[in-house]
Amino acid sequence: MRLILLFCLVLPLLAQGERRNPLPIPDIAGYSTLKCDFHMHTVFSDGVVWPETRVAEAWRDGLDCLAITDHDDYHPHKETVSTDLSKPHAIAAPLARRLGLVLVPGIEITKGDLHVNALFVTDFNATAGKPLLESLREAKRQNAFTFWNHPGWKGRLDWYPEIDEAHRQGLLDGVEVVNFGKLEPQTLGWIGPKNLTILSNTDIHELVEIPAGQHRESITLVFARSRDLDGIREALKQRRTLAWLRDELWGQPNLLRPLADSLLSARRADKLVIFRNRGSIPLSLQVGQETVFVHANAETRIELPQGPKKVEVLNFHLTAGGNLSFTAEW
Ligand SMILES: [Zn+2]
Ligand SMILES: [Zn+2]
Repeated sequence: MRLILLFCLVLPLLAQGERRNPLPIPDIAGYSTLKCDFHMHTVFSDGVVWPETRVAEAWRDGLDCLAITDHDDYHPHKETVSTDLSKPHAIAAPLARRLGLVLVPGIEITKGDLHVNALFVTDFNATAGKPLLESLREAKRQNAFTFWNHPGWKGRLDWYPEIDEAHRQGLLDGVEVVNFGKLEPQTLGWIGPKNLTILSNTDIHELVEIPAGQHRESITLVFARSRDLDGIREALKQRRTLAWLRDELWGQPNLLRPLADSLLSARRADKLVIFRNRGSIPLSLQVGQETVFVHANAETRIELPQGPKKVEVLNFHLTAGGNLSFTAEW
């Protein structure tokens, strides 16, 4: 009787179980690989969803970390919803804690055409009504990490003078090279020379909808010493990130190479080479004359190639141009 009662209580819970795509990406030496989205909106600015929905979506999509970043100076729902930007974070935090996700406190500093996200803020409302540089100085007083959002959204592809001033004063740490599923190629050339952290975010205002068999299309990979706010802040400030869009990655070789090493192994079996992919990023390889596709979490075999064991990863792009390539062992 007790057992039947237990079944009656437990089964409905199991039946309602939410489904998570675990989206496994292996760690690299010394660091945890974290999947993050640092740019999302809710009804507390111009989004259409409640803060907890963002957390539930992030969990479903296999993320480790998210930031809700509503606009400081744009509140189209202010007749109905508070303009206090600490509220979306406060509402989302208990669910994030329960689901084991890291929720980064953030805002989108919104001054005309220039939008800069500030993460790890301690006073969510301190930049409202202030000009850009003053807002960024305020964010820095709070030890925030800052990055320029969607630089080309108004059709200008240049490094804006206002942004240059902020960067010169040490008020800007990174730039979105991917926003809302779109790569902005002009931003790639800024990453190395200007010493910027590279980011890929959704900037989602509606619900996050993902076609069957696919994953969230814009993700920032963060290589963190610890899976918490301090670890993520340190990694962002030290520029240990890669931008992931659909099946392609962009970044510096010092991170692309160890990630490729932890994802991919190659072994020889008689007259064959067998490539194994240990993660959720499919790998497109140029091996000699042959292009080899190694699906996520799968193996592909090819005839033993002649000539040098050089592998080019066609979907791992260096911000300085070209793709990652290296000499493999098999
Ligand atoms: Zn924006
Ligand atoms: Zn935004």
